[in-house]
Amino acid sequence: MKPVKHVIALDVGGTGMKAALIAGDGSLLHEARRATGRERGPEAVVETILGFAAELLAHGREHFGRAASAAGVAVPGIVDAENGTAVYAANLGWRDVPMRELLSTRLGGIPVALGHDVRTGGLAEGRIGAGRDADRFLFVPLGTGIAGAIGLAGRIEAGAHGYAGEIGHIVVRPGGPACGCGQYGCLETLASASAVSRAWAAASGDPDADAAHCAKAVRSGDARAREVWLAAIGALADGLVTAITLLDPRTVIIGGGLAEAGETLFTPLRTAVEERVTFQRLPEIVPAALGDTAGCLGAGLLAWDLLATEVPA
Ligand SMILES: [Zn+2]
Repeated sequence: MKPVKHVIALDVGGTGMKAALIAGDGSLLHEARRATGRERGPEAVVETILGFAAELLAHGREHFGRAASAAGVAVPGIVDAENGTAVYAANLGWRDVPMRELLSTRLGGIPVALGHDVRTGGLAEGRIGAGRDADRFLFVPLGTGIAGAIGLAGRIEAGAHGYAGEIGHIVVRPGGPACGCGQYGCLETLASASAVSRAWAAASGDPDADAAHCAKAVRSGDARAREVWLAAIGALADGLVTAITLLDPRTVIIGGGLAEAGETLFTPLRTAVEERVTFQRLPEIVPAALGDTAGCLGAGLLAWDLLATEVPA
């Protein structure tokens, strides 16, 4: 068999990891999942990741005639991609883990790229997902919280300290609900999937009601659900217009659990954004296309990008 050149792609979440071996044309040669085992502590998680990556390297050698040429890894929290350090991750208990160095050593010295989970997912959505080569885009996943990734000319802007794109912490309702970040009235306290779930549980009197139930009630014409839904969309539109004003993106890609509501979300959201802009040019507002594989696919792109910039031997 002719050896197939490929890279390791690894997306580390709070509880689980997704991995793949990805060929140069983007095809997935192999996929695997594993628990992070975070209940065993931060050091054990690092060791689980290193062991998993080493197995993936061996898998490539055994099944595709050669080991991976590079690896890309997406991790949560605060990431210093330039020096390859996972600076802080509350859900994994990490502080200043030199992940790139640890991985490269374990993988026999192959080049390793480290990325932030949302920015890495955004890279994939912008390049091979909903953005389809969009030169300037904003990726906004609406999940437990609200995060963001700013796409600029084929890469993602991290900011000077790794905090760029945190649209969830734009204050849209001064003095509003308390946010985990210490501020009040942040976008994510009003328009995340969790925020809509909380609001609909309170309005409907059903403590188990969530955002998906709210969207369903909106579609069936429930007036209270519509009120909750439009309040969230109004806040989301306010936050997006601030971002649009600053960044002038060509495309806004909305993902996460709330985007699963489809046109129940997108039709009123486009209208709400349109009503708020004055001089700004309206970007296309589209649903994300890659779902929960975006982080892993983006990690693969980071790895291939490393090889593209390598000086040929
Ligand atoms: Zn906040």
